[in-house]
Amino acid sequence: MKHTIQSNRLADIEIIENFTDIAPLLTEKQVLVASERCLFCYDAPCINACPTAIDIPLFIRKINTGNAHGAAKEILSANILGGSCARVCPTETLCEDACVRNTHEDAPVSIGRLQRYAVEHLDPARGYPFTRAEETGKKIAVVGAGPAGLACAHRLAREGHQVTIFEAATKPGGLNEYGIAEYKLVNDYAQQEVEFVLQIGGIEIQYEKALGRDFTLKQLRDTHDAVFLGIGMGDSNGLNIPGEDLAGVEDAVDYISVLRQIDSLAELPVGQNIVVIGAGMTAIDIAVQSKKLGAGEVTMVYRRDQRAMGASVHEQELAQTHGVHFVFNAQPKQILGDENGVNAMQFNRTVVNEQGKLVATDEVIQLPCDLVFKAIGQKLHPDFLAQDSERPALCKSGRFAVDATFQTSIPKVYAGGDCIKGKDLVVEAVDHGNKAALTIHQVLQQEEKY
Ligand SMILES: Cc1cc2nc3c(=O)[nH]c(=O)nc-3n(C[C@H](O)[C@H](O)[C@H](O)COP(=O)(O)OP(=O)(O)OC[C@H]3O[C@@H](n4cnc5c(N)ncnc54)[C@H](O)[C@@H]3O)c2cc1C
Ligand code: SF4
Repeated sequence: MKHTIQSNRLADIEIIENFTDIAPLLTEKQVLVASERCLFCYDAPCINACPTAIDIPLFIRKINTGNAHGAAKEILSANILGGSCARVCPTETLCEDACVRNTHEDAPVSIGRLQRYAVEHLDPARGYPFTRAEETGKKIAVVGAGPAGLACAHRLAREGHQVTIFEAATKPGGLNEYGIAEYKLVNDYAQQEVEFVLQIGGIEIQYEKALGRDFTLKQLRDTHDAVFLGIGMGDSNGLNIPGEDLAGVEDAVDYISVLRQIDSLAELPVGQNIVVIGAGMTAIDIAVQSKKLGAGEVTMVYRRDQRAMGASVHEQELAQTHGVHFVFNAQPKQILGDENGVNAMQFNRTVVNEQGKLVATDEVIQLPCDLVFKAIGQKLHPDFLAQDSERPALCKSGRFAVDATFQTSIPKVYAGGDCIKGKDLVVEAVDHGNKAALTIHQVLQQEEKY
């Protein structure tokens, strides 16, 4: 953090309370009521809406008949990170949106919260729910211990392959550990989940080992039977406007990463007048968490209108209930300040012209601020393959181009999660990791035959 911002500090106890679990575990009674509401639909649309195709009516039925352990096994066999997905998935745009009970007169079944209940009730005394197939002698390198890499590694380990995960950071979990809002994954849940994943055996994680810095892709290919790239998006988009280098202009993802790792949240500097640029999940998260830390005014500014926001209606409401203001149709023009840091930001009003294109007008609005958060999306880190003789082709969006089997342009190199084009959700990263692992397994099996 470049400069210290003065603010009306909340008491430590208030901050701790603000960051407690946003959707606590349902009680036994609530679980009974929620599971009774499921119609156990034939051809259930909720299953199709889940990227990992969890058999939702089946696990809800198991919970309803008192078999939460069996329900957890069902969930985890489709999605090994079913515990974190139950906490962080925007269910309102996925399974619960598709639920047949989601009508004007009714409400969807609380699938996410039932899933969380089930996974929390997996009984460790009954043994690890997965077994490893006989050792195949095949070695696979996974780069990145985020949701995509972990899911891929677990699936490959189940098939009997030996997996080494190379992770640039000092901890596993990817954005589950360093990015997702603190109040969604409380009590070090990301680390507990990784420990559970590793219990399968056959997976080694090497920390502080970065592709592009400590080894090349070519070296990995030469020493392994296949490589999976699950490196996420290591770099953030810039605003490219005057004043961006002023103290007090922060990258939202970097700030959240500090927030997620700091021992005492009360030590974090908080602005009195914060401007957040962006309209997606990261923008909402930084706005809400700033409020929870005791920030004064927090204003989210977006260049398009509300309908175009990336954040779901549920997330927008979360921001509104925390007192976050929205300004739409305003495009960053410049950031103003002096040697003490930022003190205001100017925007050009935007309109949609006759051709349907968003254009900036001459009308300028100015917002006073002592902190600006940039939350306008991320991109692949440019350095990671700089010294490689072979680089996987990128698609138009600047991410790895993959085919339907998740293979990149380089043979035996696969990719998934945020580093390929998609919805940028944990559940989707898990799906990519699962599918790439199954392709790798099939290819290795076929090689054995011939
Ligand atoms: C602020 C924020 C909030 C979010 N909130 C939600 C949410 O509420 N719900 C939701 O579903 N999704 C959310 N997301 C999106 C979600 O976190 C991602 O879609 C998901 O984590 C992608 O998983 P991944 O494994 O592809 O990448 P990541 O989680 O980014 O993991 C990539 C891993 O690779 C490592 N790595 C990177 N480069 C290298 C290298 N060169 N060598 C070795 N290792 C490397 C990284 O250290 C990291 O551990 C959020 C994202 C952000 C930024
Ligand atoms: S769509 Fe809704 S009611 Fe039907 S099976 Fe899924 S959760 Fe149950």
